[in-house]
Amino acid sequence: MLKVYNTLSRKKEDFVPLDEKCVRMYSCGPTVYSYAHIGNLRTYVFMDLIRRVLRYNGYKIKGVMNITDVGHLLSDGDEGEDKMAKAAREQKKTPWEIAAYYTDVFFKDIAALNIGKPEVIAKATEHIPEMIAFVKALQEKGFAYEISDGIYFDIGQFPSYGKLSGQVLDEKEAGARVEENSEKRHPADFALWKKADKNHIMQWDSPWGMGFPGWHIECSAMSKKYLGEVFDIHTGGIDAVPVHHENEIAQNEACAGKKTVNYWMHGEFMMVDGGKMSKSLGNVYTIAQLREKGYDPLDFRFFCLNAHYRKKLNFTFEGMTAAKISRERIMATLYQHKISDAKTEQGVLDNYKSKFLEAIDDDLNIPLALGVLFNMLKEPKSKDIYLLALDFDKVFGLDFDKVTAPAVTEQKIDAPQEVLDLIEKRKEAKKAKDFALADSIRSQIVELGYEIKDTREGVVVTKL
Ligand code: AMP
Ligand code: ZN
Repeated sequence: MLKVYNTLSRKKEDFVPLDEKCVRMYSCGPTVYSYAHIGNLRTYVFMDLIRRVLRYNGYKIKGVMNITDVGHLLSDGDEGEDKMAKAAREQKKTPWEIAAYYTDVFFKDIAALNIGKPEVIAKATEHIPEMIAFVKALQEKGFAYEISDGIYFDIGQFPSYGKLSGQVLDEKEAGARVEENSEKRHPADFALWKKADKNHIMQWDSPWGMGFPGWHIECSAMSKKYLGEVFDIHTGGIDAVPVHHENEIAQNEACAGKKTVNYWMHGEFMMVDGGKMSKSLGNVYTIAQLREKGYDPLDFRFFCLNAHYRKKLNFTFEGMTAAKISRERIMATLYQHKISDAKTEQGVLDNYKSKFLEAIDDDLNIPLALGVLFNMLKEPKSKDIYLLALDFDKVFGLDFDKVTAPAVTEQKIDAPQEVLDLIEKRKEAKKAKDFALADSIRSQIVELGYEIKDTREGVVVTKL
């Protein structure tokens, strides 16, 4: 039985979806004012792992991810410039051009990391009417009030505010991430809709005049639209807990009059060299930069897989190099299994499969599942092991189906895969001192029109 850690209850819980066949899941997506950095991407690898583990358990998924292209201000306290407008001003583009460009790069990045695209991608700017309707409903139910610069959520009307992060409101009042606005009834009241002055680039008409949505309302409005009022899983990075998700809960539950999300799941942060990632420290890396340094995006995915999603993960280039080497070794060993004709007993395979399932179903213990894979790869070479590893790869997402002959590709020999496979098989046969088999494989290679010579540098292939 799949168990997941629920931030709301602070416990691992049995996962029981509302609809036993299809899991409904919402994931907070990127704010598309810049390139996604490796920390952001770790959070989406985590989202992908949940989706894969659910599928491995036989569920279908309806996943929704938002694209924040308006309303995310520089400060969490509803103040400062819109991040999109700032990028537009700096790059002399329109916010729409900025959004289109970085959204496109984001989808290319996640594709390179084998992160499956959620079934529904919802852009905030395409859901303004839904957000206005949500704010109106909150106002009608007495949870929102209007002041000179916008419509605010009245947390005084929502006594359980703070339950996700376990913060007491007075503490929040003191902890001044949320700036003062003298007209607000409580310092932690947050903007649902902000009124815009003439200079504000992105603005829409509303019952409260021209303006733009607060950042949090988009997730409430879009999750409700695509998943219904009550759904199964909500994911995001751990930093979203104290403000963004707390506010989403307040909006959802005030509107619905009941609990609307059953499992809140959060991915821990990625650190760099033991500290925070920040532009001023110059340690905010992108996938493009990792590529420039010679890493494959899947090296980064594998690096992420080696830490449990609820543990901080410290990024270093030494760690990345170790991940790269380790991944190459796995691929090379997998290849040996792939080309072997030997068999493995069913009981042995079943044992690995059940250990793997136990690991992933224990709140996505992927590092443990990798441990099961490593042990399994130490078994005598057999195609059955390769096939089971392919099955595990439905969760790992490391392209195990793309293993090729390592030694030969290093020499950049242009021969068909069939010939490369035979060369590897012959190498194995020679290692096992089965020279009769080695010779017969050589004949097969000749029949395919290629000749091989053993040299000190390895096997050299020529076309006959
Ligand atoms: P943003 O594009 O700023 O809205 O952030 C996108 C996602 O990345 C959010 O879910 C954040 O919680 C997450 N995130 C931001 N920084 C990090 C980090 N250093 N490590 C992991 N996740 C992060
Ligand atoms: Zn969100």
